[in-house]
Amino acid sequence: MRDFDAIVVGSGAGGLTAALRLTQLGASVLLLEAMPSFGGYMNPFKRKGYTFDTGVHYLGKLGPGGTFRMMLQLLELDKAVSFVEIDPDGFDRYHFPDFELRICKNRSAYQQRLEAMFPGEQKAIRHYFDVIERLLNAFSDPHGPPKTWLDRIRYILRHRVLMKYHSATYQKMLDGITRNPQLTAALSAHCGNCGLPPNRASAIVSLMLLDHYMDGAFYPKGGSGALRDAFVAGLQRNEATLKNHAPVTHIARDPRGFTVTTAQGDTYTARTVISNADPLITLRRLVDPAIIPRATKKKIARMTPSQGAFYAFVGTSLDLAAAGMTDANIIHFAHTDVNRNFDAIAGRAASEPFPYFFMTSPSLKDPESSHAPAGCHCLEIISGLGEKDLFKPWAHLPSRKRGPEYERLKQQIGQQLIHSAERYLPDLSRHIEFVEFATPLTNAYWVNAFEGANFGPDQTPKQFGPGRFLDCKSGIDGLFLVGAGTISSGVLGCMASGVWAAQQARDYLKVKNP
Ligand SMILES: Cc1cc2nc3c(=O)[nH]c(=O)nc-3n(C[C@H](O)[C@H](O)[C@H](O)COP(=O)(O)OP(=O)(O)OC[C@H]3O[C@@H](n4cnc5c(N)ncnc54)[C@H](O)[C@@H]3O)c2cc1C
Repeated sequence: MRDFDAIVVGSGAGGLTAALRLTQLGASVLLLEAMPSFGGYMNPFKRKGYTFDTGVHYLGKLGPGGTFRMMLQLLELDKAVSFVEIDPDGFDRYHFPDFELRICKNRSAYQQRLEAMFPGEQKAIRHYFDVIERLLNAFSDPHGPPKTWLDRIRYILRHRVLMKYHSATYQKMLDGITRNPQLTAALSAHCGNCGLPPNRASAIVSLMLLDHYMDGAFYPKGGSGALRDAFVAGLQRNEATLKNHAPVTHIARDPRGFTVTTAQGDTYTARTVISNADPLITLRRLVDPAIIPRATKKKIARMTPSQGAFYAFVGTSLDLAAAGMTDANIIHFAHTDVNRNFDAIAGRAASEPFPYFFMTSPSLKDPESSHAPAGCHCLEIISGLGEKDLFKPWAHLPSRKRGPEYERLKQQIGQQLIHSAERYLPDLSRHIEFVEFATPLTNAYWVNAFEGANFGPDQTPKQFGPGRFLDCKSGIDGLFLVGAGTISSGVLGCMASGVWAAQQARDYLKVKNP
């Protein structure tokens, strides 16, 4: 007799979805979360009356018939959470040295906007949107995802666009479309959303990321915590067992199923396990190596994590709206060549401004919820670190006990990030009511992100599609994976993996115990 049908390890978007879907399918579920709060990157934090989001700034596919909305309906959460739409005329404002681009809702409106901005480049722009169209057709193929090898060959022949771009970087794809540096910049501007410069990012991932917001960009009313709370309430309603403060340290398999052990030494048994920990954590640290098949071991040995970032969480009395900020995200580029901005972060001296950063304000996106004390705003500013191992010397030390050198370095970089943001919000540094900086070590601690990764495994061409754990299978019978290491990073991709893994786990349980 096993304690549960299924144990879900971790409560990010993928884990919460898998657990909820499994309860809907009639399984008994135990959800184990390492941290005090559920949600992973959907878990906000509160300080001095300010609430900050950690990994949810805007979401797409929430219009009528959108995939995100349909997913919420499937999970019976559509009435539990609502969304505010960010300015449809420009939810992302990209500032380059010589021009500004506002990405707007609606693919053809955005195409027209680009054609008006770059009148000599109409052919290139049409070509670009045609590639997106062909990719979307491939992903919504009426024959469904290919199952057999023959199916796969037929599928690829039907959708040659996949063959052409599956191993291409975004830059390589753009180079085949235009040589206009400004248009190249405009079309690459959103690349930061996958954490890579165009010359490293997968072409297909980058195009799908742009498409994600083409039916509008939305923010959960009440912030990321409202979305997380809807999941937790759904799980409680469906009588799942939820345990926080329960870091899983070992997953063992025996002929009857799995035994999962936590750091406190508690053990739980189940017939199937779904892990929301990064695949690099699950398969390198949690699962008994003796049961991992050779192909999975090889994949995991090759896999590289995405980079973490540097974050400033700011509570300010500055009137952001009067300073010109709106509900739109502001993305700053010092150079028109987007790749150069990423390189410049790596070579940045501590006293130099940040060549690239992303800035967003929950209190401007959702003014009716109380994200900040009256008359104040919260602001989140994010940039890359460049040097991946900058904070590694402190990685072995516990959170808040990393000593004065770590704090000094964090403060120095953080102040420079705030000064960089003053280009858009003059005097910000004189109106700070609260500030906290975070590094990749913060992600590693709070989300158990492998080496502090923002987006699971890096989204390079090699780690897109089958290069990730696309089918949510770990290679171990009965052990499934969900989250950013599977279908894709981003809340929707992780939720999709949760639905898919739950279905497979349910089928597995049925076979084992019809
Ligand atoms: C700065 C930033 C901004 C982002 N902005 C957006 C955005 O605007 N829109 C968007 O769609 N996406 C955004 N993303 C991406 C998105 O937030 C993530 O891809 C997604 O939320 C990850 O979900 P996940 O299922 O992989 O789980 P995670 O959020 O990674 O959570 C994993 C959970 O598992 C727990 N866990 C791990 N190991 C164990 C263990 N051994 N035992 C028990 N529990 C464990 C962790 O504590 C954590 O709670 C952003 C990400 C970052 C970092």
